[in-house]
Amino acid sequence: MLDGFAGLWCVNIGYGRSEVIEAAQRQMSKLPYASSFFGFANEPALQLAEELVRLSPESLQHVFFTLGGSDAVDSTLKTIRYFFNVTGRPEKKHVIGLERGYHGVSSTGAGLTGLTSCHRFFDLPLPNQHHIPSHYRYRSSYGVTDAEIISGSVAALETKVTDLGGSEKVAAFFCEPVQGSGGVIVPPEGWLAAMRDACAKLDILFVVDEVITGFGRTGQLFACDWERVEPDIMIIAKGLTSGYSPMGAVLMNDEIYRALVDKVPRDLPFAHGFTYTGHPVSAAVALACLEIYERERLPENSKVVGAHLLNGLDALREHPWVGDVRGKGLLAAIELVANRETRESFDPRLNVSQLVRRKAYENGLIVRAFSDNVIGLAPPLVVGEGDIDQMLDRLARAICAAQ
Ligand code: PLP
Repeated sequence: MLDGFAGLWCVNIGYGRSEVIEAAQRQMSKLPYASSFFGFANEPALQLAEELVRLSPESLQHVFFTLGGSDAVDSTLKTIRYFFNVTGRPEKKHVIGLERGYHGVSSTGAGLTGLTSCHRFFDLPLPNQHHIPSHYRYRSSYGVTDAEIISGSVAALETKVTDLGGSEKVAAFFCEPVQGSGGVIVPPEGWLAAMRDACAKLDILFVVDEVITGFGRTGQLFACDWERVEPDIMIIAKGLTSGYSPMGAVLMNDEIYRALVDKVPRDLPFAHGFTYTGHPVSAAVALACLEIYERERLPENSKVVGAHLLNGLDALREHPWVGDVRGKGLLAAIELVANRETRESFDPRLNVSQLVRRKAYENGLIVRAFSDNVIGLAPPLVVGEGDIDQMLDRLARAICAAQ
């Protein structure tokens, strides 16, 4: 089998990497568990925090460890609430995300997610959670040029903030640098920086969810690096440990961290954290992964081989079902449509993307089928062009077989 989706877009270093397995074994023998609370810490977690601060955008100076992405999003939402409460701005409660955005499944993050399937029957979104349209060019709410999509998104954010009562009532805007579970939707160049600037002007926090895009997936270590964007908070998981062990993290700026530490009564510290916060085995795994990313220049490989993948997917446009092709680095998708001229979608009851996924599996290729007939590809970042050619061949045959 060729894994064209790196597990659940997380096994960025590929499978069977003995140095990571040995790092976990060594750490388990030395110290399998240590609490990160009540005055304790452990060496791998401290070292990992330092490395993450070194590697991430300069604005991010502090790290809070979680077990994965969903609890990192939930921890972020709690941190933001706490930050504005202890700094005397308790009215700042609304949060804004993007339609088609995905921010995990916690009872707070799932509401911030902009997919109705994650809301229905869960009583979500919460009353303080709001969405603006995605920058989805193929089915655009804003126009089709880069400039229209960027200015439309900024205007939509400004209008939403105004409608919610102004900056005094709004805490933060959340986005993924490339929308993942919403169907691999890549914004135009300049979009992320423009949204960051808009948030600064609006005096709301800019939170980037790099759970998928982090650790080389789009061709830079972090997708923020493409436009030198400096977020107030960055959420990471998946590629942090490449799926070898669960871990996520919230990286934050100094102002937020200082508020959590300095602005609270000494007898009432920031009461948030998990038994497995800063787990030493996961931290040792993450450190071993970071070494591999750097030594093997996996972000660079993702950029180069990702361009080859996108070219190959473009060639699939010859097939009458292939309506849109999009991607950045080794994060890509095709959107299958019933009619390319009108962009009419297939009847969902036909389950076309699931059919293609199954045919691909029979051909020895794992891909992800999204709703709306999108097929996603996100292979491990260690792939070469030859692996991609094989994947493309198997995918092309799967589409033909599904017809
Ligand atoms: N945020 C994004 C952008 C994600 O893609 C995901 C998971 O796919 C999450 C958050 C949630 O992460 P987890 O599944 O580790 O809880």
